[in-house]
Amino acid sequence: MRVAGRRKAAVVFLVLGICLVAIAVALNVGWILLNLRQVALLVLGVIFFALIITGLILNTIFLVREIRRNEQHDAFLNAITHELKTPIASIRLYLETLKTREVAEDKRLEFYEIMLADSNRLLNTVEQVLQAGQTREGKRLLNISRINLEKLLKESVEIIRSRYNLNKNAIEFVETKNSIKVSGDAAELQAVFTNLLDNAVKYSKNNVKVWVEMKNSDKKKVEIRIKDSGVGIPQNELKRIFKRFYRVPNVSTQKAKGTGLGLYIVRSIVKKHGGKIWVESKGEEKGSTFIVQLPKAVI
Ligand code: ADP
Repeated sequence: MRVAGRRKAAVVFLVLGICLVAIAVALNVGWILLNLRQVALLVLGVIFFALIITGLILNTIFLVREIRRNEQHDAFLNAITHELKTPIASIRLYLETLKTREVAEDKRLEFYEIMLADSNRLLNTVEQVLQAGQTREGKRLLNISRINLEKLLKESVEIIRSRYNLNKNAIEFVETKNSIKVSGDAAELQAVFTNLLDNAVKYSKNNVKVWVEMKNSDKKKVEIRIKDSGVGIPQNELKRIFKRFYRVPNVSTQKAKGTGLGLYIVRSIVKKHGGKIWVESKGEEKGSTFIVQLPKAVI
């Protein structure tokens, strides 16, 4: 409802802007016709008119941008509140049960596991918010080293395998013969691949099948492809998903938990490393492939 309200407000302001421009044009044309001979005044009038029109257009653009930004902040606040509240509520419930009832040993161990998973989820959310605050495009990298990309990718795959208790076949690493090195911040690059792999699993429903492939795209660049067979992404959303707080507004996405920060962080890190990231998908339910292109380390 609130989003619809804002859209209406944006439309009202747009229409208002257009009407004002039309009135100003009509006044100016009338004025020019009445004062054809007074050239000096005419020139002044035209300049004045151009200024008014520019002001009006800038004002309208500013208003529409502000409304969009507010919409994004609202969406983020909703997502973040949900992401913080749900695990806390769950942990509380289990703790209360443990406090007030006699619980069998195996059940108790199960409760501990669930509470641990919930607190990991909380930690993840807090870390993402902190990282999004720190990640600024253009900011210099701090801990630069030469990184063995294959090793880093395999470590990231292991992190996600154990996070989701997946079997060996769920994420397949397509082996390459040559070892490729990149130079950059290992922790940040690992955040890139774990985020992409986490999404690939999260947006895959029950049957998880993910492929990770690394290959030379040319002499100077390496390409890492992370392909899933999950819910897919509609064509018109392929660019938007990298924006801060943005989540695709369809049922499959909304079922999975998230804040819309992951890909924003990923893109910022890749850019800082002089690389590029994009996504390909044939549409909803047709899987997605995220492609990261990074410059190779100079020997
Ligand atoms: P989050 O996952 O927390 O919502 P992200 O920034 O990681 O935030 O992703 C933004 C949006 O991009 C997601 O909400 C989802 O709609 C879409 N998305 C990301 N990865 C995938 C994927 N592998 N398959 C389908 N949709 C994806």
